[in-house]
Amino acid sequence: MAQPADLVLRNGVVWTVDEDRPRAEAVASVGEKIVYVGSDAGVDAHVGPGTRVIDLQGRLLVPGFNDNHVHFESTGALLYGLNLLDVSDERAFASRVRDVHRRYSPGTWIIGGDWSAYEAWGEGEVAEAGREVNPDDLYGSFFLPNRGMIDGFTADRPVLVRRFDRKVYLANGAALDAAGIRKGVPDPEGIAVERDADGEPTGALFNPVAGAVESTVLVQDRVWALYRDIVPPRSRGQRIQETLETWKKMREVGVTSYADITSAPVQVDIYREMREKGQMTARVRYRPPLDKWQSMANLGIQIGFGDEWIRFGAVKAWIDGIMGNSSARFYEPYTHNPSSRGIWRDIMFPFERSPLNPEDMQSRLERLALQADAANIQLTVHAIGDEANGYLMDMLERIIAKNGPKDRRFRLVHAQVMTDRDIERGGEMNIVAEMQPFHTSDDMRWMEERIGRERSRGAYAFRRIWDSGAVLSFGSDSPGTNASRYYLNPMLGLYAAVTRKTLAGQPEGGWFPQEKITIEQAIQAYTLNTAYAAFEEEIKGSITVGKLADYVVVSDNLLTINPDRIKDVRVLTTVVGGKVVHEAD
Ligand SMILES: [Zn+2]
Repeated sequence: MAQPADLVLRNGVVWTVDEDRPRAEAVASVGEKIVYVGSDAGVDAHVGPGTRVIDLQGRLLVPGFNDNHVHFESTGALLYGLNLLDVSDERAFASRVRDVHRRYSPGTWIIGGDWSAYEAWGEGEVAEAGREVNPDDLYGSFFLPNRGMIDGFTADRPVLVRRFDRKVYLANGAALDAAGIRKGVPDPEGIAVERDADGEPTGALFNPVAGAVESTVLVQDRVWALYRDIVPPRSRGQRIQETLETWKKMREVGVTSYADITSAPVQVDIYREMREKGQMTARVRYRPPLDKWQSMANLGIQIGFGDEWIRFGAVKAWIDGIMGNSSARFYEPYTHNPSSRGIWRDIMFPFERSPLNPEDMQSRLERLALQADAANIQLTVHAIGDEANGYLMDMLERIIAKNGPKDRRFRLVHAQVMTDRDIERGGEMNIVAEMQPFHTSDDMRWMEERIGRERSRGAYAFRRIWDSGAVLSFGSDSPGTNASRYYLNPMLGLYAAVTRKTLAGQPEGGWFPQEKITIEQAIQAYTLNTAYAAFEEEIKGSITVGKLADYVVVSDNLLTINPDRIKDVRVLTTVVGGKVVHEAD
């Protein structure tokens, strides 16, 4: 008899994402590793007296989902803290704030919220960006709360929440006091304080807004500038609560690995502490900003550094804006705003002579990217608009020319709207397209109105990117955009990639249906391909002997059900490193 397994799952449909053995009935693991993948009859040899055996009752088992892009801190802050995205009335507003007030330790500020986001964006139909806003009203006539709705129960706890677009904040009495905003005192510089007939502040604080409501011109966030130094940093205890809450969510939706994109460095130490306490239930790849490459290199950190639980080796940069507020960078102006092509982020400047070749002009991004790449640190760069993606393809060609060809797995983050030629070039250079397919379901509602039909053809071009030879990797971008929060659930991403429909099932047949991929491809993008994207395909991403025993049992057979139902599939059991970490009731 073989060495007895700690855990056996049998009598299932095992979709391994391993092309040498795509299907099986049973798996066995010893400790963290898979020791057997095969038939029910064959797994018997691994069952000993101490083996836990789970009968899958014919259900589907797939590799644990590996999310390529998680804003971990903001996900945790929203899961544990305040979420007002769908709130546009007094009752819901007060009750959400009250829930968080009960949960938070005394004195902790309640911040964020993003009220009225769904009022602006609507949820569902194609090409419908929520309700109409009056173009002459720069602030839009959305729901406006006042301190009277929450002062009664928040007492000494400061509350400073904002509308989704940051044009308006609401401060309760304690938060107004903290900034010295009161009757008889002039408004702080640049902020319009709403006051009642007696001159008492109502709590609403208005930021200056320039330009039309729908334009790219953004809000100057004077309110946050005023409060930034007043609001104490989140305590470690609070961060730990948020971390545990996020991992709980990950277990429930079957995410066993993820990339943490933007968390503060203290988060790394929290990972360490939680891991030592045995509370870590998802594996992380932590990605600092590109300008940290030198510190990493100085410490000897490069691709591969770390272990199965906490790994480093990649850096992140951003070069343009986002679709949500039409700041993504395009070759041609926006269809709905002919005066704008979107923006470049600060890292594109200064644009100066290259130190090595004075004939070349080089962005700061490119200078840093060349150095980081030479230090064997993996580059990942956010690009949404077609010009942003095109610039990165140009830059990657120059990096390859200067630093030489190697296995660098350049990650084009979002790869959202690409020209035909750039899709081809991405394939030729074997890039990883780090995409978050659920954005499709969200953005298709206003995409054509903003960039027109022809450019939209290159939006989320899953099929052509896959066929180009690039590696398509999936994740969530949790907590999503202002248009929608979706917290990590891989089923939404699989659904979007396979159907190209909104959650409401529109349009029939899917949006640019030629870019649909199969469910098998979508699962691979969310598992093995994300492992590859992180140089970890040898240890995870498929259900293969010798790899980590990270897998999930789902409620329905994703491979055979009507794709419209994928979004409703639930995760029943999550196994990480051979341990069952989640079982649905
Ligand atoms: Zn993101």
